[in-house]
Amino acid sequence: MCGSEQNYIAQAFNNNWIAPVGNNIDLFENSLGKFIKEGVYVTALNSGTAAIHLALIILGISKGDEVICQTLTFAASANPIRYLGATPIFVDSESDTWNISPVLMERAIKHRIKLGKKPKAIIAVHLYGMPYKVNEIRKIADKYGIPIIEDSAEALGSTFRGVQCCSFGDLGIVSFNGNKIITTSAGGALVTKNLDIKKKAIYLSTQARDNAPYYQHSEIGYNYRMSNILAGIGRGQMEVLNNRIEARRNIFDNYKNKLERFPNIEFLNEPKDHFSNRWLSCILTSSYELREEIRLSLEANNIESRPLWKPLHLQPIFIKCPNYIDGTSEDIYNRGLCLPSGSNLEEADKERVISVISSIISRRALKLA
Ligand SMILES: *Cc1c(COP(=O)(O)O)cnc(C)c1O
Repeated sequence: MCGSEQNYIAQAFNNNWIAPVGNNIDLFENSLGKFIKEGVYVTALNSGTAAIHLALIILGISKGDEVICQTLTFAASANPIRYLGATPIFVDSESDTWNISPVLMERAIKHRIKLGKKPKAIIAVHLYGMPYKVNEIRKIADKYGIPIIEDSAEALGSTFRGVQCCSFGDLGIVSFNGNKIITTSAGGALVTKNLDIKKKAIYLSTQARDNAPYYQHSEIGYNYRMSNILAGIGRGQMEVLNNRIEARRNIFDNYKNKLERFPNIEFLNEPKDHFSNRWLSCILTSSYELREEIRLSLEANNIESRPLWKPLHLQPIFIKCPNYIDGTSEDIYNRGLCLPSGSNLEEADKERVISVISSIISRRALKLA
């Protein structure tokens, strides 16, 4: 937290708007919309998962439909497809962004159409803050007339050709969960260029109440709106978003500068036109064994690190879903590790991480010599 969050929370208390309606929500939505792109409409919700769920509902996804989804991502990208009784079709990643491969995605779309069912939506993810191939994915989506849900949960502040992520999809979503680059403790938002869609999202997220003086409902609704108190936290966090991006990018650069001299450690570079908020600093080691050795050694030094997201096509809950896989995400998963990346990491913390990793690799080199 940066300091002004409590002032905005106090405003909510002072004017007694302790509900999923009020001034903080409006102002948070406006400031987020301005940040993403002039002219977008933001609906603040109580999670990123809720935003994906509403996006799918608004696109008319229902039981038996198929939805293309990047396999290398957090389960929350795909779970809402199942809430609706639809089927996720998992597509593998490409190695230069770790995101959905345009080649495999088009192959998947063609094959599903041949089997008699055109996918109804595409969920593409900017993983760890790295933008997916925005233009290539858009071109294919348009060629087949399939809308894109842009999962920007990890990518607030990332850009492609200087344009903010969450402005490229037919619908975009962000998350303000506690682990994300800015947080409202729990929260998310749906982003659209269409005011009617925003109105629909507000209606669905507040129990889909008909316009009547009594409580009447003609559609199933949800309790997904963000509270005015949490939106106060969001307003304060927006003031430090650019600092957070700078801090995360510095952490990544610092790890990279100190570790890239080792031939068995790689970093994901930004392809041309891609700017990542570097939400998490990840490394790719030369083997699963080295990855585990580093992870366990960090753990022995009381430093938490984590393997990357386990691809969804390997998850017990999704194992029976159709997939279009070439091994890229499994390889990245086996060799990848997320290093400590919190914006408040101190110099000494980073030095400890770097020294544990350096000493493992130097020891290995000695053994080989
Ligand atoms: C965190 C996350 C979500 C879900 O957001 P919540 O606010 O936690 O519900 C969705 N997709 C990705 C890629 C995420 O990292």
